[in-house]
This record gives sequence, structure tokens and C-alpha cells, in this order.
Amino acid sequence: MLNHLKLELEKRKADGLLRQRRLLDSPQAEHIVANDKHFLAFCSNDYLGLANHPDLVTAMQKAAGDSGVGSGASNLITGHHRYHDALEKQLAKFVDLPAALLFSTGYMANIGVIGALMGRNDAVFADKLNHACLNDGVYYSLAEFNRFPHNDVAGLEAMLKASTAKLKMIAADAVFSMDGDIAPIPEYLALCEKYDAYLYLDDAHGFGVLGEHGQGSLNHCYTKLNMPKSPRIIMMATLGKAAGVAGAFVAGEQVVIDYLIQSAKSYVYSTPAPPALSATLSASVRLIEQGDDLRAHLRMLIAYFKANLNTKKWQLMPSDTSIQPLLVGDNLEALALSEYLQTHGILVPAIRPPTVPVGTARLRISLSAAHSLDDVKKLIDVLHQAEAVL
Ligand SMILES: *Cc1c(COP(=O)(O)O)cnc(C)c1O
Repeated sequence: MLNHLKLELEKRKADGLLRQRRLLDSPQAEHIVANDKHFLAFCSNDYLGLANHPDLVTAMQKAAGDSGVGSGASNLITGHHRYHDALEKQLAKFVDLPAALLFSTGYMANIGVIGALMGRNDAVFADKLNHACLNDGVYYSLAEFNRFPHNDVAGLEAMLKASTAKLKMIAADAVFSMDGDIAPIPEYLALCEKYDAYLYLDDAHGFGVLGEHGQGSLNHCYTKLNMPKSPRIIMMATLGKAAGVAGAFVAGEQVVIDYLIQSAKSYVYSTPAPPALSATLSASVRLIEQGDDLRAHLRMLIAYFKANLNTKKWQLMPSDTSIQPLLVGDNLEALALSEYLQTHGILVPAIRPPTVPVGTARLRISLSAAHSLDDVKKLIDVLHQAEAVL
């Protein structure tokens, strides 16, 4: 095995696919210190700039003082603290669904939920560009795995029509993590009604950013696209992105949450995140709710960036969200562009396969409310210079 691993790593390096961690010596923010250098960074998912918010730092210190640092036992033994419970109720209310359940990470939520709700005689219909952990949830559930082309409603309908599975679930990122575009959610819900399926939406990148007061992609669909409410919807959102902390929650009908408490293995057999984290997240959700100015600033930055970036060699992919991918194609060229930016003090890592399809390496530029307009202007200038040089 050891020799095999060594060869695999060497091969990845030769193909421009070796990933390397950077060592961060500052809080997560728009200006960071990574590998001992200062950078203006466009790569976090901290879309509202909450990861180092002074109110949240204080909330975490205070909550650690009165609830300790560890949960100590799984949720069903004695680990379920009042801070966890309060956050679950607050989140359910915020996304306007009957009940919510916390998980330690989004990865664990997706594996746990799909694994608990779906089984051998069932079928999951998943967008080809879904996040890896939705796919892992389907593998783990042993349900039939049907993947449809990205955002292809007609292709999905053909698959649903042909299916004889007992239970059917459509699973999709609401906002695609490496593309930034939004799934046709109302169309999916209509298909759920027509073919007696359920909709599992992963709102990792919409929660806190989209919808009224940052309530997320579902709220965006209710208010902007006239989508009806439905008991067929189950949503998941992570709390380590716009919410700035860590963790995830699932929300839906009370019976779904009650069932998950019994059956989602990554919930039942795992120690919950510290209660102090939940207390911090409760403060974070309040900041999100009051964050209309942050979201307005972010929308202004997105519009400015899209209107003023004008590279011919590389194209921005169609996205109106904070995720603005610049498509390069070739792995080594994407790395060279990323390195050019780094020599000019800007950090945007190159995203390569298998995170994205072969031949679509890109810079995943992510904008945050913490950026200033000057930060975005600097990014645009350096990208224009790079095009002239590379
Ligand atoms: C980040 C992400 C996850 C995983 O969430 P974590 O809390 O980081 O484990 C799940 N789904 C999507 C779409 C993501 O972008």
C-alpha cells in the first residue's frame, strides 16, 4: 500500500492535481496571513464577514464560561443542551419550517439524512454537479442513484417518470458550490407533486445570503418566484459558511425531524458540537436577520465585479451569487493564474478536478460583505494584468 500511495501522489503532482494546505495565522477575514504572507483573499465562504465578528467572539467566550467547552455525550444520552435546543427552534422559525435538527457538519447532515430516509428500494435523483457529500449520502443509503445533467428539468422528469421506486427523492444544491448558479427549485417541487417525490435541498451557499433577511434559497423562491410551501421539502444548510461558525441543520416537517432523531446515524452515534457553539450561532442568526445592509453591500460588489471584469481569455460563469467562478479550463493554466494573483497579494485558489469536471478548472472567486469596493477593484485590475502577461 505505501508504495501505491507514493506513486499516486507523484502522479497527481505531475498532472497539476496535488492539493496543498496553506497555513493560516490570522482569523478568517478578507485580509489574511497565510504561509507567512499577507493576502487580500477571495476564497472563503464567510459571505457576510461573520467568522471574526466581535459580537460572536464575545458570545462564544461567554457561553464557554457558563456551558463549558465539551458536550460530553451523544444527543440521546446527555449531550443535548438547552443551547442546542434553543438554536434548533430559532432556525426552524427563521427558515419557516416546522422543525429543525442540528448536525456537527454539513457533511454529516447529508450522509445522515439521506442515509436515514432512503433505502434499498428507493431512488434518489441528483444533479450531476451536486456537492460530494450529497453523493456520499446516496451511496451510503444504498438507494438507486440517478444523476441528471446540471439543472436539466426535462431530463430529471424523464427519469422520474420511468422510475418504479417505492420512495423518490430529488436532491440538489440550491446554490451550486463551484458554479454559483441557483437550481430550478420551483420546477423541482412541481415534479415532486407530479411524481410523488420529496425534495432535499442543500442550501449551504444560500442560507444567510439569499431571501428576505437572509432566510435562504427557499425564501427566495417563496417571495420572488411564487413557489408554494410544501410538506415535501426538506432543507439542509451549513453554519460554517455565511453564519461564520460551524455546524449544520436540517429542517422540515416535524415527523421527518422526529424520525431523524431516531435513525440518522451521524446524529445518534456522534457527540454534538459544544453547546457554546450553538449559543454563538444563535447570536449569528440574529446578526444575519439584521444584516440587510451587509447583503445590499454584497449585491453591489457582485454587480460591480460582473460589470467590470472584462477578460477575453477567461470567462465568468453565469452566476448572480457571491460565488463568481472564472473558467480557465486547463489545470496548469488555472494554477499559473492563481500563482500570478498570489505574487500580487491576492489569494484565489485554483479549483481542479475531481472537485469540478475535467477540463473546467477555474478560479472560484468568492465575494463577501467584508470586502470593500476598492478590494474588488484591485482584484479586477490584477486579473486584467494577468491576461496581458500569461
Ligand atoms: C460546504 C458544503 C457542505 C458541507 O458542509 P460542512 O459543514 O462544511 O461539512 C455541504 N454541501 C455543500 C453544497 C457545501 O458547499
